[in-house]
Amino acid sequence: PPKFKVTIVGSGNWGSVASKLIASNTLKLSSFHDEVKMWVFEEMLPGGEKLTDAINRTNENVKYLPGIKLGHNVVADPDLENAVRDANMLVFVTPHQFMEGICKRLVGKIRSDAQAISLIKGMEVKKEGPCMISTLISQQLGVNCCVLMGANIANEIAVEKFSEATVGYRGNRDIAEKWVQLFSTPYFAVSACQDVEGVELCGTLKNVVAIAAGFVDGLDMGNNTKAAIMRIGLREMKGLSKLLFSSVKDSTFFESCGVADLITTCLGGRNRRCAEAFAKNGGKRSFDDLEAEMLQGQKLQGVSTAKEVYEVLKHKGWLEMFPLFTTVHEICTGRLPPTAIVEYSEHAPKYP
Ligand code: NAD
Ligand code: 13P
Repeated sequence: PPKFKVTIVGSGNWGSVASKLIASNTLKLSSFHDEVKMWVFEEMLPGGEKLTDAINRTNENVKYLPGIKLGHNVVADPDLENAVRDANMLVFVTPHQFMEGICKRLVGKIRSDAQAISLIKGMEVKKEGPCMISTLISQQLGVNCCVLMGANIANEIAVEKFSEATVGYRGNRDIAEKWVQLFSTPYFAVSACQDVEGVELCGTLKNVVAIAAGFVDGLDMGNNTKAAIMRIGLREMKGLSKLLFSSVKDSTFFESCGVADLITTCLGGRNRRCAEAFAKNGGKRSFDDLEAEMLQGQKLQGVSTAKEVYEVLKHKGWLEMFPLFTTVHEICTGRLPPTAIVEYSEHAPKYP
């Protein structure tokens, strides 16, 4: 039988760890080609070397995941079209704001039998309403697209500390199992869940809650307040997911992609860290500034997701039903001070 060829579109912090997980498996599993291609958004390093050349020379992503060998079978390629040309398994893992442009460039450039998976946490908002990134990929490129989300702080997985993840799929379980096989390692336990919308909305919406958790940390409000934020946030995540897609299952929120990702991101994520600094500065330094200074090229997803969620809520007339999501956006844009994160009362709306 023909072997599967894998290309990873994206090579940031999580993209690099994904390449390490996948590359260790393609060497072991006979149904995959050993070589794993990784598309790199090219940039020049301070010493004058191209990032792609540095990755291929050292087998490390010296900018986004220094100190970790990716595996000798990972080949970095700065040419997007060339990187995807032969692949029949495509892994998308870039910050969500770049995916629309990347999809446009890929129309007609991928194999007709390709399968896709998105590790991207975020959404786009169209006139018709929210469009999840896996939907963008499958609509623009005409491919089936699963998702992989979970409690997955990349730097911890890079050093092989145990964690879990959830593959969300619709329809064909065999394809989901193929993705589970490609990602699973003794320290990365992946399971499949037939609720692609629920899994992807969990991964996307928890980034907004993580911003709220960071505000609470920056204001030194303590553990009880942070737990309250996480509870209210989880409730809003579930409420909005089910309002948007009635197919979303309650059980999905108990998978790694749900409550576990919410917890790890509110404890140790980049969104939390930058929001903490934002609140410590009384909202006087912008998130763009803090992101550039604190993350050295890595990207926040929570601030733009809060804006996107706000647009959806406003359009639907649901702002008052989601006071935490709404307040996060109003703090991020300076309309409210960080202290407002605990200054609303829940209207105890009845979500479905
Ligand atoms: P990152 O935050 O490290 O972002 C940097 C990447 O963005 C680099 O590869 C850079 O080249 C690329 N980039 C910058 N400008 C670009 C442009 N104009 N076009 C295309 N690419 C550009 O990325 P990441 O950590 O790999 O995150 C990707 C996705 O994975 C996000 O949605 C994130 O929420 C999700 N995720 C991240 C983690 C984590 O711990 N890092 C864990 C789980 C999920
Ligand atoms: P941050 O982007 O806030 O670091 O969250 C990473 C993540 O999604 C962990 O699962």
